[in-house]
Amino acid sequence: MNNTKAYAANSPTDPLGPFSFQRREVGPHDVQIDILYCGVCHSDIHQARDEWGGSIYPMVPGHEIVGRVIKTGNHVTKFKAGDLAGVGCFVDSCRECPECKAGLEQYCDKGMSPTYNGYEQDKKTPTYGGYSTQIVVDEGYVLSVSPKLSLEGVAPLLCAGITTYSPLRHWKVGPGNKVAVLGLGGLGHMAVKLASSFGAEVTMLSTSASKEADAKGLGAERFVLTKDPEVFNKLAKSFDVIIDTVSAQHDLEPYFSTLKTDGVLVMVGLPPNPLPVSAFSLVPKRRSFVGSMIGGIPETQEMLDYCAEHNIVSDVEVIPIQQINEAWERTIKGQVKYRFVIDIASLKE
Ligand code: NAP
Ligand code: ZN
Ligand code: ZN
Repeated sequence: MNNTKAYAANSPTDPLGPFSFQRREVGPHDVQIDILYCGVCHSDIHQARDEWGGSIYPMVPGHEIVGRVIKTGNHVTKFKAGDLAGVGCFVDSCRECPECKAGLEQYCDKGMSPTYNGYEQDKKTPTYGGYSTQIVVDEGYVLSVSPKLSLEGVAPLLCAGITTYSPLRHWKVGPGNKVAVLGLGGLGHMAVKLASSFGAEVTMLSTSASKEADAKGLGAERFVLTKDPEVFNKLAKSFDVIIDTVSAQHDLEPYFSTLKTDGVLVMVGLPPNPLPVSAFSLVPKRRSFVGSMIGGIPETQEMLDYCAEHNIVSDVEVIPIQQINEAWERTIKGQVKYRFVIDIASLKE
């Protein structure tokens, strides 16, 4: 067995603290990865604090994992020791359902195995995430990482990057489109970078006046502070697509009015409680309200390759794991520029 140091939450109210556990032996199709960096996603906080319900403890969060392959099973063909590799939000799926066969493993009919706070496909072995020194994953669920980019900047691409890339591609965002991004955090800053790189005109809709210069630096042409309800009058029928990344309860109604006819509001944020929607905000202009979850393995690889080619990484603040509880508090307050990433070397000392 592989002894693994980690940080874990033992209950919804405990801070994260040191924990150790065993990873499985490397099987014939497995890749063992020495974790170098792990991003801090708001989903880590929602789940550790059991805001969505059904959390499993002890919980080792972390699903934005980048590291170096240290061992491969006999049948592994995609990776060899020394390669850079990434692991995102899931580590397995049924491999047989139509979604899995289509490379949409995140929507697996039988349930994908999330990287943490879930179970392997045996539905009984708990999974532990990337706030840990190493991970063992079937090669079919491991991504190739280019050495061209900074590894700490690549880690958040494994969740924040793909979660925004996938809906922007699905709704064919490109030149001539007007896109709004709601919430400038980890997902939001990647949405701005990616949508602008696809040629869309991006407007940042934020509750934080202090983020204006940053939003423009990331590629937004316009920044609108949404705290003043008057601003929505000027935004009526402005956007083809809105990517909503907000993690907390918020009123959707004013945002629908900013969509053009046939406009789409894509919800990627996961506030724990239901958000009311009026039929009258959608019906009269054939607007859509849709959701989107991360992306499948083929699209995640496509996104990583695209980012390597276009020199796109996340803007990160690297922290030792010992500062994780403070980092979470700052994330909740919207005070992260724009993703915390844990230097896993701090866990190996
Ligand atoms: P984050 O870094 O904390 O960013 C969220 C942003 O939302 C904040 O920076 C803030 O932006 C805005 N915000 C926060 N509270 C708000 C409020 N009360 N009203 C209005 N705006 C508020 O979080 P993240 O890691 O990007 O994750 C965002 C959400 O996406 C989370 O719910 C997470 O669980 C979810 N998520 C979903 C998927 C998926 O597959 N769909 C994947 C990953 C994460 P401003 O300061 O600019 O207003
Ligand atoms: Zn995430
Ligand atoms: Zn499946």
